[in-house]
Amino acid sequence: MQHDVSHNEFQRAQQLIPGGVNSPARAFGGVGGEPPFIERGSGAYLYDVDGNKLLDYVGSWGPHILGHRHPAVIEAIQQTLARGTSFGAPTVQESELAELVIDAVPSIEQVRMVNSGTEATMSAIRLARGFTGRDKIIKFSGCYHGHVDSLLVQAGSAALTLGTPSSPGIPAGCTADTLSLEYNDTQQLAEVFAAQGSEIACVILEPVVGNMGVVAPSTEFLQTLRQLCDEHGALLIFDEVMTGFRVAYGGAQERFGMRPDLTTLGKIIGGGMPVGAYGGRADVMKSISPTGPVYQAGTLSGNPMAMACGIATLRTLKETDPYAELERKTKRLVAGLSKAAGKADVPHTVPHVGSMFTLFFNAEPVTNYTVSSRNDTERFARYFWGMLDRGFYLPCSQFEANFVSVCHTDEDIDATIAAAGESIAAAVE
Ligand code: PLP
Repeated sequence: MQHDVSHNEFQRAQQLIPGGVNSPARAFGGVGGEPPFIERGSGAYLYDVDGNKLLDYVGSWGPHILGHRHPAVIEAIQQTLARGTSFGAPTVQESELAELVIDAVPSIEQVRMVNSGTEATMSAIRLARGFTGRDKIIKFSGCYHGHVDSLLVQAGSAALTLGTPSSPGIPAGCTADTLSLEYNDTQQLAEVFAAQGSEIACVILEPVVGNMGVVAPSTEFLQTLRQLCDEHGALLIFDEVMTGFRVAYGGAQERFGMRPDLTTLGKIIGGGMPVGAYGGRADVMKSISPTGPVYQAGTLSGNPMAMACGIATLRTLKETDPYAELERKTKRLVAGLSKAAGKADVPHTVPHVGSMFTLFFNAEPVTNYTVSSRNDTERFARYFWGMLDRGFYLPCSQFEANFVSVCHTDEDIDATIAAAGESIAAAVE
């Protein structure tokens, strides 16, 4: 496989942009080596600047559940473009996307559009603090909620340890009120609420984790979360930036029959454009400016291009209801990967929820960050490069979710399994 053009472009980009990338994961730090530069996408495939065709399991890190350049999405963008790109004034399209979100997501009564998942979680936390008049927040190790100061707390921090910022530039004061607990640990959660419940504004979590690899919540964990938040007057925030419209049309909360107080969204609701949103109980949402005192704003929020892309994506998902078929294909792939790893005698587990999955190189069931961090990342890197050399574009870290789109065919899946068999066997040495 040729990489010369990508190599040259990466050299150039590194002179101009820190690390050559506008978001760090793209620099391939988790696997070493250099990333291909992408020229275009079509359906389930990416084409790089060297002319390589790659079967894509990243989907722009989640948004492309319909694949690249879905005709309905492209048409919506083209029609909107003819009318202008941004007005900074209300448009009908903002209400249309809000209506689609409210109809789909059981707990959302009102919703506010922003420009990224990070903005959505940052705003939801501020709202929860403003509404409750409390400062402390609970998050879980290994859950990523964007690069919000108060949420960038060292993953894996010990029980009850007050948050330590995981990046220079975040004053200790920003994370002093962030408690980082172990995912799926119901007892620890109960102990923290027993000790500090009256000070806790909210609990935020990924209701299916994608950011330490795919980790599912236990039913007990979810139910305890709801119960403890109710008992202590804290708000429960589901960060569905990744899971919204992914693990079910109505997100993880539809799938698990849960009702959080607030929900954050992103990725799929923008269909590939920069969009985030946060929504939930109307009485809570009314605390946001201009109806309430909690300030939040955005020059490009509700941007017509982004709204059009989101509306076309959600309408297509609603009309075509691809979720059962996505899950069937993902199960086929996961079973094949598991068989391939078993044949090579490599310890592994391949959890999946809906069309999200991760091949972990560790046989232990992954329930939290402590287990996830025990993975063989060097073996993963060898596997990753084996797959890329064979034309399969996977997330460039062990601790990420892979995504199946409606465009992946059974033939694509079977080809992936065959390539994985070779790559896993080669990664043993
Ligand atoms: N929340 C979750 C669960 C995410 O996976 C991400 C990004 O991957 C974010 C929030 C942040 O979203 P963004 O990168 O759009 O700021």
